[in-house]
Amino acid sequence: MEIKENHFLKPHHTFGIPAYSRFFTEVHSVEELQQALADPLLEKHPYLILGGGSNVLFQNDYPGMVIKVSIMGREVLEVTPETVRLKVNAGEDWDQLVEYCVENNWGGLENLSLIPGNVGTSPMQNIGAYGVELKDCFQELEALEISNGKIRTFNKKECRFGYRDSFFKKEGKGKYIILSVTFNLTANHHKVNTRYGQLEEELKTMGIHKPGITHIRQAVCNVRRSKLPDPALIGNAGSFFKNPVVSFQKFRELNAAYPEMVAYPDGKDIKLAAGWLIEKAGWKGYREGDAGVHYKQALVIVNYGNASGKDLLSLANKIQKSVHEKFGVELEAEVNIV
Ligand SMILES: Cc1cc2nc3c(=O)[nH]c(=O)nc-3n(C[C@H](O)[C@H](O)[C@H](O)COP(=O)(O)OP(=O)(O)OC[C@H]3O[C@@H](n4cnc5c(N)ncnc54)[C@H](O)[C@@H]3O)c2cc1C
Repeated sequence: MEIKENHFLKPHHTFGIPAYSRFFTEVHSVEELQQALADPLLEKHPYLILGGGSNVLFQNDYPGMVIKVSIMGREVLEVTPETVRLKVNAGEDWDQLVEYCVENNWGGLENLSLIPGNVGTSPMQNIGAYGVELKDCFQELEALEISNGKIRTFNKKECRFGYRDSFFKKEGKGKYIILSVTFNLTANHHKVNTRYGQLEEELKTMGIHKPGITHIRQAVCNVRRSKLPDPALIGNAGSFFKNPVVSFQKFRELNAAYPEMVAYPDGKDIKLAAGWLIEKAGWKGYREGDAGVHYKQALVIVNYGNASGKDLLSLANKIQKSVHEKFGVELEAEVNIV
């Protein structure tokens, strides 16, 4: 395990910010991870666990040690005529996993195609897209308990998955490092999920009437490529804010003033489309220096080149304030601000 000093972080995250970390190490095994955590440098400096860096915003240079988790490997645990159980280590790339599953005709993850990031991070915010969430195919995960170095298994209930949320973002925050995730996939007779409007439309455009998982993956990739900026070209971290959940009473008040408001039921409450709120507050396509709001998707804050973390955060704060003033709704960041 090599510890580098003053390491350039731009290649390790998707916002394109030229931040540096005081120390940096990449770990390829649980032993290396334990070694990094036991390093005397951490007596005086903080540390940050990093996966693919697609959900972090560095406000400044990082004053401690960035530990990039690159523990690779996957193992088929069980195959029956109906199901497959697959264990995947934290450092594996998420979309390469989805591609591998689709190629093997294992169903369940295809709607989550093209989400950037690593497998080990996917349970953190219960990644979701196009009508499916990670929890739908999740069996269990293994995590290192930082305080005592023990490896603990968490089942689905213990992970307490919610909308872009889990135990690991709440009580478990900063206490565990996810090492592997085990998925329950379908082997044959896949039940595909095409309920999401844009997905349905894309399948029609593709001329597919009875879609299989390969078609779903292709349709999801087409839709995502057409509406989301590619971080390799324009820095971004996907949706900057979560969709806010409000009471039914609050929704009724808002809906009376804005009948065209985009909203979905969420248990007893109502989930509002944050992108719609931001767009209606006039931010879509807005640009302030190199910090901007994407012209196709108002939920995505972008770095056109040389914006700093502070520039992007300042823009995010202005958006939050203006949405609050116009609608009385709080927007919460989905991105992890470091
Ligand atoms: C273009 C684009 C589109 C996106 N679309 C979606 C989408 O459709 N749906 C969705 O849900 N998300 C989406 N995202 C967000 C992002 O891809 C996911 O949140 C992804 O799971 C982040 O993975 P990562 O490895 O890059 O995380 P990182 O950014 O590296 O880390 C995120 C957080 O998790 C912590 N962390 C990282 N690894 C571990 C670990 N092994 N154990 C414990 N903590 C850890 C980090 O400290 C940090 O706080 C999108 C992002 C981009 C750039």
